[in-house]
Amino acid sequence: MEVVKIRPRGYCHGVVEAIRALRQAAAERPGEEVAMLGHLVHNEHVTREFAELGVRLVDAPSRLAALDQVETGTIVLTAHGVSPEVRERALAKGLKVVDATCSDVVRTHELVRSLCADGYTVIYLGRRGHPEPEGVLGEAPESIHLVESVEEVDHLELESDKLAVTTQTTLSMWDTGAIIERLRQRFPQIEVHNEICLATQERQQAAVEAAASCDLVIVVGSSRSSNTQRLVQVVADLAHRPAHLVDSAADLRPEWFRGMHRVGVTSGASTPSQITREVITTLEAMDPEPAALPA
Ligand code: SF4
Repeated sequence: MEVVKIRPRGYCHGVVEAIRALRQAAAERPGEEVAMLGHLVHNEHVTREFAELGVRLVDAPSRLAALDQVETGTIVLTAHGVSPEVRERALAKGLKVVDATCSDVVRTHELVRSLCADGYTVIYLGRRGHPEPEGVLGEAPESIHLVESVEEVDHLELESDKLAVTTQTTLSMWDTGAIIERLRQRFPQIEVHNEICLATQERQQAAVEAAASCDLVIVVGSSRSSNTQRLVQVVADLAHRPAHLVDSAADLRPEWFRGMHRVGVTSGASTPSQITREVITTLEAMDPEPAALPA
């Protein structure tokens, strides 16, 4: 099978930095309790690696609920960021805090803080239940509205004239485009601040461009990862090619490749390169099969 190795793919600077911070925290505190508040990045392989280093994963529906499960030691805040309340409560409990929030997420928090301080009402485009919106909304819960779809824009009741819209870092420009257009129709004065990070945009762009010359695309990563799911979506919606999400080579299904000769491979920003390499090697060893057996 011919395999197109799409670039850029895989780890972004935020994930590299978060992994470095957690490894350092574990190495500097042997024998002490070190807990990561939620998955450091949304990838099971990374979570397992840290479990082997003795780092405890504390997971719960919200970061505040997760914090309730930690009483001593060090907590590591993940690349997705947390609300000010989580940070304050952790310090009040006497925990040591290692902050691995990605610098791009920090910038969104700063933007939202400054807009709200200037009296803006902020529409935040993001995914409910994901930790990044939880953290950003916690900056000023009374002034920020989380919106996921065009339909939700139609139900917004906003009093303020000072309106701004911003985004979760790992959405796609194509996702947010239609929602922002509808917001502009309803609220022509709205200010737009696109916060989709460069790493996400570059990976999506590369996947869409490469997919045009491929029969299908394999996206390597976790179904919990927002940026990984968006890669699948942009390949399917914009390049109109089949796209399959796999966690590892073990998830590859032979029937996907019947009649396929050229397969693109990309991976989410939180996928270890070793896992993607194994997928590529497995695909390269496959014989392309005919679309159907001859009569
Ligand atoms: S995907 Fe973007 S925002 Fe998220 S960790 Fe990577 S660089 Fe940071």
